[in-house]
Amino acid sequence: MKAGERLKRFFWPTTRCVLCGGGSDRRHPGLCAECYGEILARRERLCFCGRCGRFYPGTFRECPHCYMEPRRFPKNGLFAAVPYEDAAAALVKKVKYGGRRDLVFAMARLFFRLSEIDGDFDVVTAVPLHGKKQKQRGFNQSEDLARAIAEGMDLPFERLLRRVVDTPSQTTLPYRQRLVNVKGAFVVPEPAKAAGRRILIVDDVVTTGATSLECVRALKEAGAERAAVGAFAAGRSQV
Ligand SMILES: [Zn+2]
Ligand SMILES: [Zn+2]
Repeated sequence: MKAGERLKRFFWPTTRCVLCGGGSDRRHPGLCAECYGEILARRERLCFCGRCGRFYPGTFRECPHCYMEPRRFPKNGLFAAVPYEDAAAALVKKVKYGGRRDLVFAMARLFFRLSEIDGDFDVVTAVPLHGKKQKQRGFNQSEDLARAIAEGMDLPFERLLRRVVDTPSQTTLPYRQRLVNVKGAFVVPEPAKAAGRRILIVDDVVTTGATSLECVRALKEAGAERAAVGAFAAGRSQV
């Protein structure tokens, strides 16, 4: 099955582009054709490394780091649509802090178009927020995106993971410290629901991969046949 064919159209009452204020296009609600095109263009000359989860300039299927050190990360463990920059970053922030939850449908469209996600999954889940954070924000943007992606793939969405440790913001910490921070942060409350299944874990943004790989580990431990991460945006390699 070609992923994303079944994504339904979603109508938002306003017709403005959230990024520039221009008229939005019905095919990707909340964005005008120009801003949508700009996001596509940004992605054009970049490759995505499905091992470490980073964008890099070039045409090789793996980034130079992972080519030299292939055992550091699993192959096909990560999929992402766009680099976390400019218009794409602004879009994520509109959802997360601006409460424009409808924009996840535009994100899902970009995800299907650009991420090279395969169709070998049985169920879609999301990287959960800690209960405290979920209460503060009132919604989990990754879960909204996961539901839109599940709809596009004609798969069920299920909550399979629970976050038991509220990890502080990871962005300023060095990589090794982040791995230590998220260790044991996620549990699978009902392992029978994960066992033997091929699971796509959706996250809005993958920065170091530490959080998402910890989710992969938890689901694999619960007996998942496959656990891979699909993110709207990811960071850029420093090479
Ligand atoms: Zn626009
Ligand atoms: Zn890599």
